[in-house]
Amino acid sequence: MPEKIDPTLISEVRKYGHFDVDACYACGSCAAVCALSKDSALFPRKSMRHVQVGLREPLLASLDPWLCYYCGDCSKTCPRQTEPGESMMTLRRFLTAQYDWTGLSARMYQSPAWELGALAAVGAFMALLIALFHGPMVMDRVELNTFAPVMTVHFFDWAMAAVLSFFLLSNVARMIWNTMFRGGSAAPLQSYIEEAWSLAWNGATQIRFRECGKNTARWAKHFLLVTGYGLMFVMIVLFLPWFQTDAIHPIWHPQRWLGYYATAVLAVFTAEILWSRMKKEEQIHRYSDLSDWLFPILLLLTTLTGIAVHIFRYAGWPLATYYAYAVHLIVCVPMLVIEVPFGKWAHLTYRPLAAYFQAVRENAARRREQAPAGPQGAEAQPA
Ligand code: SF4
Ligand code: SF4
Repeated sequence: MPEKIDPTLISEVRKYGHFDVDACYACGSCAAVCALSKDSALFPRKSMRHVQVGLREPLLASLDPWLCYYCGDCSKTCPRQTEPGESMMTLRRFLTAQYDWTGLSARMYQSPAWELGALAAVGAFMALLIALFHGPMVMDRVELNTFAPVMTVHFFDWAMAAVLSFFLLSNVARMIWNTMFRGGSAAPLQSYIEEAWSLAWNGATQIRFRECGKNTARWAKHFLLVTGYGLMFVMIVLFLPWFQTDAIHPIWHPQRWLGYYATAVLAVFTAEILWSRMKKEEQIHRYSDLSDWLFPILLLLTTLTGIAVHIFRYAGWPLATYYAYAVHLIVCVPMLVIEVPFGKWAHLTYRPLAAYFQAVRENAARRREQAPAGPQGAEAQPA
């Protein structure tokens, strides 16, 4: 069946950022220079072509925008300066919005007022919760667990994690439907099982970052940042009673050095991301959407307010500790609630899934090639 042409697709995609194909003369240099592009996933030119001619369904079924890790080599090579690397970034925003059934992603990516408003609304709700439900403020010494009882905070953590997981997983289900099932392109179960290792490997290492542009330093920074974020997430969501204590542990205690490690990498590398975006020297930082700024800004503010809580607690300043803790939650909770399922952070989920699904597709294609031709297949061969 011929594909339906949707002439509105290009104007819709352009609402999500830079997307310039008008000057492109299809030389193919961008795909040729891309270290991650291959015959089974030929990008960025193919994805741009889908948009240019209005092929909405193939674009939704495509994994290619997630397989690009934005090294910027294609943009540097393009003789027409159409910035294909940034076009892939725009397509990732567009696809994030297509997977999100609530419509919030689309509104946030298309309107700064919506993104800032959503963050502010959750922050205000958090401030109200703290104002209404905080515990007594002991003022002659720091008792953080009296001000914010750890099991109450822990219960709130779990409830929030459950809500976030629901939204994120329901969006992931739509990604799976669009890319792996829609249009009758289902791969056999055996392919999913055989390639499962790639999901764990790519999720844990983000190794494609290193292949992208052959930039080991960029991959290492991203890897360390993810380890810091992951470590902090595990300590807070699974081990909060161990992490949030009024006891002051000796420096060699794992609670302290694990916390210091996570804090240091989060502070250093988010600050570095912001500095690079401000300087605009690297190709990949020439264009910055609001979501590209908010993501590191909120992460850095969360880290800095966490550091403030730690310093004030160790200095023995009760009021400063309680206020810093409240601000910490007012920044951190909106960042998680809004950015993880609906915003920039969703790419941490979609990227390794896309690498896995691409491996599944290739596995399924190999199986089809190796399968012995049946009677029907034999008849279909030319004489
Ligand atoms: S390198 Fe530029 S002009 Fe050539 S196909 Fe890619 S986007 Fe088009
Ligand atoms: S930005 Fe890098 S990884 Fe992405 S399409 Fe261009 S060359 Fe390939």
